[in-house]
Amino acid sequence: MHILVSNDDGIHSPGIAALAEVASEFGDVRVVAPDVERSSAGHSITATHPMAYRPTRISNLAAYRVNGTPADCVALGTHHWDSVDLVLSGLNLGFNLGNAIWHSGTLAAARQAVLFGIRGVALSVPSGVDHDFEPVKPWIRRVLDIVIAEPSVSLINVNLPREPRGLLWTRVSVRQYDGRIVPTKDPFGRDLFWFTVKPLEPADEGTDRWAVEQNWISMTPLKLDLTDEAQLGAVEQRRPLDRALAFATSPAVSSPEAAKAVIAEEAAAPIEP
Ligand code: MN
Repeated sequence: MHILVSNDDGIHSPGIAALAEVASEFGDVRVVAPDVERSSAGHSITATHPMAYRPTRISNLAAYRVNGTPADCVALGTHHWDSVDLVLSGLNLGFNLGNAIWHSGTLAAARQAVLFGIRGVALSVPSGVDHDFEPVKPWIRRVLDIVIAEPSVSLINVNLPREPRGLLWTRVSVRQYDGRIVPTKDPFGRDLFWFTVKPLEPADEGTDRWAVEQNWISMTPLKLDLTDEAQLGAVEQRRPLDRALAFATSPAVSSPEAAKAVIAEEAAAPIEP
């Protein structure tokens, strides 16, 4: 099994070395990660300049550093290595719970794998320097055993508390959060700002945050289709717009010309084969 390991904390994070070491017990491992920390990079990709892919070594495993985002690393890693079976992202130093799935580069790397048709798993542990990863390694092994035994689950967000009691399947804790801007000054007295977020409501039972609060390892299966099915059905009933006309006059599959025209409008410079 070919296992590509990435992260958003950067190639030199101790978390990625710990994950790669455990992963190497399950298959051939290659590490491809950003050359610097790209935490909170979300699912951004580098679209305005080319990237470098430079060899290095992590824990005596083949590794490459990229001057790009976590999603870029998965793209370059799968481009350079045939038939990747599984992408692991982490161990992120800091949980990725609830709304963090929108900001997290750790999760974005796993999600980028799924966009390529490869399974992706994001793994996060408590933040903190001088982290001793030995106690968490047996739990990572258990998580990987489960992941490999459940091939139909394509995208999983895993959060491991410091002293786990066991493992739970969870859902995302979606809560309002307080997105606060904290002002500060640069050395010349000019205004600077930090964007910090703080959850406003307690976590619901069965969610990722609730599980970690109770010291359970949280494993959340995620899907890429964000369509709000309930709202789609309700609003389409209430206000059908031009549905009847569209379905009567538009073919179920668009013509190649129509598809090509939209692709051309998506990018500044359409790529011709
Ligand atoms: Mn990070």
